[in-house]
Amino acid sequence: MKHLAEKYHAGQFRKGKEKLPYIVHPQAVAETLLAWGESSHSPAIQIAWGHDLLEDTGVSDAEILAVSSQYVLDTIKLLTHREDMEKRRYLMVIAGSSNRDAFLVKMADRICNAKDFRALKGDLYAFQYLHEADCLHNAADEFLPEEDTVVQNALDAWKDLDGALRRNAQKDITRGCLLGGAAGDALGAPVEFMTKAQILQKYGKNGVTDYVEFADGTGSITDDTQMTLFTAEGILRAYVRYQEKGLCGPQTVVRFAYLRWLKTQGISVGSMPDFVNSGWLINEKCLYQWRAPGMTCINALRESKTAKPADNNSKGCGTVMRVAPIGLSLDPEKAYEFGCECSAITHGHPTGITAGGAFAMLIAYLHAGKTLQESLDRTEKHLEQFADAAETLAAIRKARTAADITELGEGWVAEEALAIGIYCALQHPWDFKAGVLQAVNITGDSDSTGSITGNILGAINGENAIPENWRSKLREYRIVSQIADDVHLLVENRPDGHVTSNWWDKYPGC
Ligand SMILES: [Mg+2]
Repeated sequence: MKHLAEKYHAGQFRKGKEKLPYIVHPQAVAETLLAWGESSHSPAIQIAWGHDLLEDTGVSDAEILAVSSQYVLDTIKLLTHREDMEKRRYLMVIAGSSNRDAFLVKMADRICNAKDFRALKGDLYAFQYLHEADCLHNAADEFLPEEDTVVQNALDAWKDLDGALRRNAQKDITRGCLLGGAAGDALGAPVEFMTKAQILQKYGKNGVTDYVEFADGTGSITDDTQMTLFTAEGILRAYVRYQEKGLCGPQTVVRFAYLRWLKTQGISVGSMPDFVNSGWLINEKCLYQWRAPGMTCINALRESKTAKPADNNSKGCGTVMRVAPIGLSLDPEKAYEFGCECSAITHGHPTGITAGGAFAMLIAYLHAGKTLQESLDRTEKHLEQFADAAETLAAIRKARTAADITELGEGWVAEEALAIGIYCALQHPWDFKAGVLQAVNITGDSDSTGSITGNILGAINGENAIPENWRSKLREYRIVSQIADDVHLLVENRPDGHVTSNWWDKYPGC
């Protein structure tokens, strides 16, 4: 099989800067299997050498059969990705085949490619590529025997690579998500209350393509990102409190963070304890700006006495736009639950609450390295369990099938803003700029749809996908970066992190 592979891959090259002959890849896959302890005479090694032959060359079945067996040919066919089959479906067919050798070759193939992608496209891309094939890894537990040491070595190698990639990748996801949301927010701010026709009339046929609010070309966040920052601050303080005191009502701590935000809006919070004024975020003077905040949030916080659900029937988008940090710091199911709880602090309508939960969950799946489609599938599946999430679920489904963005509404309410964010991200999954500009150039709540789209596309593509001038000219870049890095540090240290005095000063656990 090795000779057949050398013959047919001759003249083909690997993608990348160096023009490496393609044969280095099947060779690396075969060597990986050998390193895991597979016998050099086993069919798996033949399959490793031949695994791309049918996909990428004009070799015939008969030629493969002449040097191997029907089993080897059938397994290579199983590993051959037909263009008409969605990639994830293809991986699930392999995972569900109970074919040990197909499993091993595909694991080795993914690991080898992920290592190459690491050098070529960075840790975030390699991390996502590795996790696109999570179904393989999961299937191993179900059908492969524990005493098969080659399989166990494959699983260990997967885990090692995941561990090596995770730290950098998740830091990039967290920074990308929060800075991306801030950039989208700042881009949309000056056109929030304009129709699309008015935007085009004022800014030309492409509408807004850069920060246009201030003469110096800078951009500035609005209430969406301000509240996102305080959500993150609340999570960090809840964590510190839990570490130090062993008990914590996180919803209460986040509510106090929102009261700090309320103070930045110039609204007195009455006889609040001193600690409402503590921490570093409340001392950032640039947050003391009235940037068209949602009146539901203002009123609900002003009136609230405890962290109980708000006594109103609002489903404004003020929930979705602020909960991304929850998805960056909790596992998906917990993110849904806590996303709902934090939404309920200001919004009483079930859709306002569940749309916030759904968005936190979506971000949590992206943070775990899942693709956008898989993250949406899983979020939908979760929502199916709850009757009060029906409107949110319907909006997500509509976002995935709509022919035009105007079908999704204007984004003033939670499920519409979520749908528009998802729609724009699906239209431009690998193009932060195009997706966010689509989201802000609408008739509707441009800063919130820009912020939500920016959260999603920033989480998928990382910080460097945000145009450089949108970062350098963002007035609150330092603050958003600082919060992002602290959220990431929290995730990295969990569950054994100990709280330093520095952390206690920054995020007093109260
Ligand atoms: Mg706003």
